[in-house]
Parts: sequence; C-alpha cells; structure tokens
Amino acid sequence: MKTYETDVLVVGGGGAATAATISAHECGARTMLAVKGEFGVPGKRGAGATSNPLGDFWTIRTVGPKGSFFNPPDAVLADMVQAGLGMADPALCRVFVDEVSHALKRLSEMGMRFKSKMLATMPADAKAGGTHGIVAIQKAVIEATKTVVIEEANLTDLIVQDGRCLGACGVDDLGNPFLIQAGAVILATGGVGQLFKHSFNPPGNTGDGYAMALRAGADLFNMEFMQQGLATTWPNQAMVMLYEMKEPYRLLNAAGKAFLGDYLPSDVTCEEVSNLKAYHWPVSCRDAAIHLDRAIKGEVLAGRATPSDGVFLDLSRGERGFEADMFPKFMMSRGIDIRNDLVQVQIHHHTSNGGIRIDTNSHSGVQGLFAAGEVGGWQGADRLGGTMLGGSQVFGWRAGIKAAEVAVSRPNVALGPQDVESLIEAAARFKEASGDSPPNVLRRALQQVMWETLLVEKTEQSLDRARQFVAQERDRMGHSLRIAEPADVAIAFEHRNLLDVAEVIIEAASMRKESRGSHYRSDYPQIDNDNWLTNIFISRKGNDLHLRREWVAASHGWQDQPGDIRIRPWG
Ligand SMILES: Cc1cc2nc3c(=O)[nH]c(=O)nc-3n(C[C@H](O)[C@H](O)[C@H](O)COP(=O)(O)OP(=O)(O)OC[C@H]3O[C@@H](n4cnc5c(N)ncnc54)[C@H](O)[C@@H]3O)c2cc1C
Repeated sequence: MKTYETDVLVVGGGGAATAATISAHECGARTMLAVKGEFGVPGKRGAGATSNPLGDFWTIRTVGPKGSFFNPPDAVLADMVQAGLGMADPALCRVFVDEVSHALKRLSEMGMRFKSKMLATMPADAKAGGTHGIVAIQKAVIEATKTVVIEEANLTDLIVQDGRCLGACGVDDLGNPFLIQAGAVILATGGVGQLFKHSFNPPGNTGDGYAMALRAGADLFNMEFMQQGLATTWPNQAMVMLYEMKEPYRLLNAAGKAFLGDYLPSDVTCEEVSNLKAYHWPVSCRDAAIHLDRAIKGEVLAGRATPSDGVFLDLSRGERGFEADMFPKFMMSRGIDIRNDLVQVQIHHHTSNGGIRIDTNSHSGVQGLFAAGEVGGWQGADRLGGTMLGGSQVFGWRAGIKAAEVAVSRPNVALGPQDVESLIEAAARFKEASGDSPPNVLRRALQQVMWETLLVEKTEQSLDRARQFVAQERDRMGHSLRIAEPADVAIAFEHRNLLDVAEVIIEAASMRKESRGSHYRSDYPQIDNDNWLTNIFISRKGNDLHLRREWVAASHGWQDQPGDIRIRPWG
C-alpha cells in the first residue's frame, strides 16, 4: 500500500484548499495537497465549485475600513448576522468581516484582477476555462513551492487515535488504498451538491468532508440550510440570476400555461414574488420568493415538465444593470439565445450553509483536524452573496496557519496498514461487488429522490420518504452494487458518503419544525423565534446520529430586524 507523510495535509483542490496550502507553506510546514481527479482544471473531476464555469461572473463580498461610507465593517457584520436569521455564528462572521480585505489584497498581489471593487467581481475568463482565476493563480503559487500534489486521490476516512487526527486514507482511481500520515489535516472538500439531481456543483462534490469528519467524531451544524437557485437545463447548464427582472416572470409549463399564480397563497401576488426574488438576488428563497421555486418544482413533479426536465422562462428582457450585454452574451456562449428563445430552467442546489463546526482558527472539535470553505460551517439560515468564495480564502488561510502550528506537536507514531484495516476491507468488498447496479446508476436514483424530498420545500412526509429511501439504499449497496471498472470503487465510497450526509440533512430538517431562511417546511410555514432560536448540532456515535440543540448566537442576543429587505446582495 502506498503511504505518504507530511506536516499538513490539505484535502481538496478548490479555493479553500489552495489558500490553506499556501499559508501553511508560508508558515514553514511541509505541505501536501491531495485531490480527487485533476488539480485545478475547470470542467474536470476535481475542479470543485470554486471553478465550476456556470456563470458569467463571480463576486467576493468586500468590507471597507472602519468608518468608511461603503460597506463599513459593522454594517456588513450586522447584515450577515441578520441574513442568517440568528443561525450564523457571529464570531466567525466577525473574522470574515475583519479579514476578507486582507484576502482580497493577497489575491491581488498574486495576480487576480477584480473588475468592480465595490463587490470584487470576477468575470468569466475563457482563458481560465470559462471561470475566474482564483484556483489557477493559487495553483501557480503552490507549484512554485515544495508542496507535494497528489491527484486522483479519493480520500475516504480520517485516522484518529486517542482523539487526535493523525492523517487520512483513501483509494486512487484504480480502487487501491493509500495512507497519508500528517501532523494536521485540513478538509477543504466543498459541499454536497451531488446529492441532488439538479445542482450547480461539479461531480466530485459529494459531501465527503462532512461524512469523514462526522465518522471521526466532529460535530456538524446548520445542515438543514441550503441555498438554491435557477439554472438552465438545456442545451447546457448556465446560472440564471433574476435580479434585473422585476416585472413578473413569463413562466410556462410544457403545455404553454402560465402557472405561478396557481401556487400563491391568496394574499401574495405574482408581482410581489418577482420583486422579492429580484431583491433576494440571486439565490435566496425566503419570504414570498419561495413560491417561485415551489411553483417550478411543483409543475415538474406534476408531470408538466419541458423535455429537459424544467419549465420555460422568458428571459428576453433579462439584462445586467452594470453591463447590459454581459448576460445575453454569456448565455449565447452556452448555446442559449435568450433574446429569441424561451429557456428551460430548473431549481438547482447552490451551496450548503452549514458544515463542520469550526472555531475561529478553522479547527474542528477533533484535535489536529481543520475544515475550511464550504465544508466548514459558519453561515446561517441564509447568507450574503460573495461570502462563500471570500470565506474560503479567509478560513482557508487561517486553517493553514494554525495547522502548521499544531502539526509540530504531533505524537511520535508510525502508521501502517494495520491502522486502515476497515478501508482495506471495504475497498476489497466493493471490488468484488457483482450486483446489477453500477454506483453511477445508484447515484442517479438517489439524486432524484433527494431533489424531490429535500430541496425547496420539505414536509414530514417528504422527509419520511427520504429517510426510507436512504435506509433501503444502504441495503441496496450491500447486494445490488456492481463494480464494473476500477474507478467505480471511488464512486462507491462517494455513494456511502452521500447517504451519510443525506441522513444528517433529513434528521436536522425533520427536527426543525418551522421555516427559516432557506429551510422551508410547508407543514410549518412560519418562522418560530419562540421555539427555534437554536442551531441543530449533529454528531455520530457508531452508527447512531445524535442531534442536540444549542444556540451559537446566544451571547449575541439576536433579534429579527424588520426591514432587512434593504440588504443586498444575498447569496
Ligand atoms: C456556479 C457557482 C457559482 C458560485 N458563485 C459564487 C459567488 O459568486 N460568490 C461566492 O461567494 N460564492 C459562489 N459560489 C459558492 C462558492 O463558489 C463555493 O462555496 C466555494 O467555492 C467552495 O470552495 P471550497 O474550496 O470550499 O470547495 P470547492 O471549490 O468545491 O472544492 C472542493 C474540492 O475538494 C475536492 N474533494 C472533494 N472531496 C474530496 C475527497 N474525498 N478527496 C479528495 N478531494 C476531494 C473536490 O474535487 C474539489 O477540488 C458559487 C458556486 C457555484 C457552484
């Protein structure tokens, strides 16, 4: 079995991983970056959400200096905490507000160019594979260091002994196990978009980091909160942002019928939904804006979908205020002529707001284990636009510094195959699996059910259905799985992780009997501050999940701020 050794192991190849690797290296640590697929090639397995080329521009939320007119720190902090509806961790939001300007400065010094300084926008660049340059630029910095980069490294588990993380193990693309011993491990594995049939996330984002951390004894929290947004389903995927379309949308089902009105409560109008959606730009679904998402999904589930599993949307008047032609041109580059054709759109999972519970140094509750980026939870029930990319830089950088420090105090043990027996057994079992369903087929069925039951709106019934499906799927993994080619072994491990994370989301969403921000329960449609000003933490003992309620903002004394509609942009 291949074994490696390093001071700081960074798992992942997105913006959080690259930031963490650079800072750990600058602190003098020997660094190793292990990523599935290829490192930093947009559109290829391994690229991560950071470089998924589905938009025409990206943003990082900026914060001005104290006392400045634009984005003063205390106002941004207040907006973040309010957007999170009491569920964001104010201490971690404070770190973001204090440090995102440093992160932007570092990126600029590495060569990033931001188009607008007010929101640090980054237009899609054809030379960067249709995405922005954050990963490409940081990859070049990493390549100039002695960092060891391991590609096609599918990490599956963390190695924890006596409460201390000593490394991680996984399988390569041929299904062969390997082991990496490390003084500290930083998980930068992104989110769990691949749990859903429709997602902005690339295929490698299968929630591995959440599942690995959970099995290793770390807490997750806020896992019921996920952002969602619109994207086209044909002929290519492209994000659709509705913020410049305040007039009611012309949304039609496959039969050409306008349907939004059929989904509205009697006191809500199409105009109100359109206005709110535009205001909650681009991917918040709170308040009456949720009805747009409900309506689209409802038509599809009712069997009135377009041939490409969406609904028709008239975007002929869609444009960006600051650069009117940018959006139509981008859509044209994706093969979509918005001026002359109706487009087919669907609700997609965008990002997961919760994740591994971290402190201000990105440290999880497990000694030597860090988490940064989307896998590290700090956002609340909703979030501001531009805080995920910025947060990946801020918390990735912090994780690298602290991990380099912690790595020095590692215990003097030499790990070997005896420490990863369960991985070796599981890989061997998968390799022999000779049922009738390759893991990709199992994944598609799981994604369909999870999209139907967990995204947009949930009810006790939909959550029960999801729960039952996951239980049956674990059984199917035991007897129906077929490993047809070596690369299927890694996909089978991903499937196991998707099930573990699905279970967490289901139980957290089931426990939270109210609607708050991105978590909408149609059987409990109101926010309930009397009973639900609390976060849900999840840990795992053996095969059992433990849910506990604790409020991270208790000392902050959050109170809902009416009039928060002025907050823009939302993410
Ligand atoms: C289309 C799109 C547009 C977005 N626009 C914005 C925006 O404008 N502003 C904003 O703030 N946010 C935006 N977001 C969200 C933001 O991009 C992500 O939340 C953020 O980039 C996540 O960065 P990350 O480094 O944590 O994870 P990712 O970039 O997703 O990287 C995760 C990495 O880990 C690797 N990995 C996963 N599991 C394993 C494993 N088991 N072993 C080895 N490697 C593994 C993956 O292959 C990948 O390289 C957008 C997201 C998408 C998808």
